[in-house]
Amino acid sequence: MQLEGLHHITMITADAQANVDFYAGVLGLRFVKKTVNFDQPDAYHLYFGDEQGAPGSILTWFEFPGAAKGRPGIGMIHTIQLGVPSAASLDFWEGRLREHGAEPHRDEGTLRFEDPEGLAFELVVADDGNPPLRAEHPEVPAEHAITGIEGARAYSAYDGVEEKALTDVLGFTYEGGGRYRLQGRERHVHWAYDPAPPHHGRQGAGSVHHIAFASQDEDHLRWQARVGDAGGYVTGVQDRDYFRSIYIREPRGVLFEIATMSPGFAVDEDPEHLGEQLRLPRQHEHLRSQLERELRPVVNPRAAKELA
Ligand code: ZN
Repeated sequence: MQLEGLHHITMITADAQANVDFYAGVLGLRFVKKTVNFDQPDAYHLYFGDEQGAPGSILTWFEFPGAAKGRPGIGMIHTIQLGVPSAASLDFWEGRLREHGAEPHRDEGTLRFEDPEGLAFELVVADDGNPPLRAEHPEVPAEHAITGIEGARAYSAYDGVEEKALTDVLGFTYEGGGRYRLQGRERHVHWAYDPAPPHHGRQGAGSVHHIAFASQDEDHLRWQARVGDAGGYVTGVQDRDYFRSIYIREPRGVLFEIATMSPGFAVDEDPEHLGEQLRLPRQHEHLRSQLERELRPVVNPRAAKELA
């Protein structure tokens, strides 16, 4: 039994439309699902990814309109690494991000930037085995398109000490220096702990809420049992419609999720039209007229293009 690398990473935004404009508009990801937070249906849950919304490509946001800015601290993810095909792609993104008002910094084979709410990203050349997971965007040539999520870094005390809950229970490989690799059959993801800053973190706009690793559907309950048997905290199985989830609080404080690979985002929408209409889970469908009235409208650029 092995985890299949990353599934998705979930953040908080104060402004859903500005979020869509940046991730679908500037970064060229596909806006694959517009739904609500299943546990709090008056808040949006937006999903972005490659053309199919494949596990390993997915970034998601809960919207809390007007939320104060967050700040990463101990036990929180502070940087997300996205893959690009080549060093020439870093040049392309340096120019494109600057044109759109971001302030990218080039540094030894990486390009660092922040999203409009201060969330830190690193573009890295993805040359160690992940098959590309691309979206199509008229202004982003395929040879430079983002190829999926390569890794994430969190703050921790004891950052350089091997975390056995990761290696012995979840199957990560420790590479030393606080760095880990989780290798699945097709994809892998890099994970690392850095020394925590001398201040408390705060959840809020531009902060990461949790990270989800991918499980084969048939292994999901066995992962739940395995974490429980190891003395870890693990939740019951939650049906998220597009996947099933369990949540784990790893010992350094980061909220981990293990999500199934299927059924995926085409379960309730035509693959040609992902993310164009508000989709609600069955248990919240009766709230539709109220939610459509109260949620601020969010326009998917692809749907807008067809209307034009
Ligand atoms: Zn999640």
